[in-house]
Amino acid sequence: MIFTVAIDGPAAAGKGTISRAVADRFGFRHLDTGLLYRAVGMKGGDPGEAARSLTPEDLGRGDLRTLEAGQAASRVAALPEVRAALVEFQRRFARGEGGAVLDGRDIGTVICPEAEVKLYVTASPEVRAHRRWLELGGDEAQVLAEVRERDARDMGRADAPLRPASDAVLIDTSRMTIDEAVAAAVAVVEARLVGT
Ligand code: C5P
Repeated sequence: MIFTVAIDGPAAAGKGTISRAVADRFGFRHLDTGLLYRAVGMKGGDPGEAARSLTPEDLGRGDLRTLEAGQAASRVAALPEVRAALVEFQRRFARGEGGAVLDGRDIGTVICPEAEVKLYVTASPEVRAHRRWLELGGDEAQVLAEVRERDARDMGRADAPLRPASDAVLIDTSRMTIDEAVAAAVAVVEARLVGT
């Protein structure tokens, strides 16, 4: 069976938690595509070259979840050369045998427009900043400023900007618990699996 679940949306909307839960529930493989961009951003040197020569060790670094890595990722992610270098790997993962969940910014629009399920997971910038702040600490106003900055860069770039695919199901997690958000996503996948 080939079955792709594409989960896109802005930072800290709940994509990661939902993706892991959906993958667990259905026994699908999971790829957090943000990690690829974070690893390229933190590798240093020429970003195109860094993307073409990415290794499993680069993806295993301990500092990829930091705010700094997020900002570095969003800067290199605007470069077409970097995006192009990462496309094939993501497509192969998405269309491999056995079902796959990919979360990112352009999975339903660019990487896998043929995905069987497309979800766009979002929440207000204030709610997302608060969640990030609970996770990482620091100054909450500064975290909100960084969330807005990253949104603007990800939505405003020319190559693969963040936007919902026209056929994506929208899940706004601003007023949902984690369990409610996961249940909403699982229900969409289940309904589509029944039809295959
Ligand atoms: O999802 P995460 O916060 O880890 O992503 C870090 C950055 O990587 C995003 O802000 C975005 O600029 C970039 N990214 C992307 N396309 C993806 C996944 C992440 O451009 N599919």
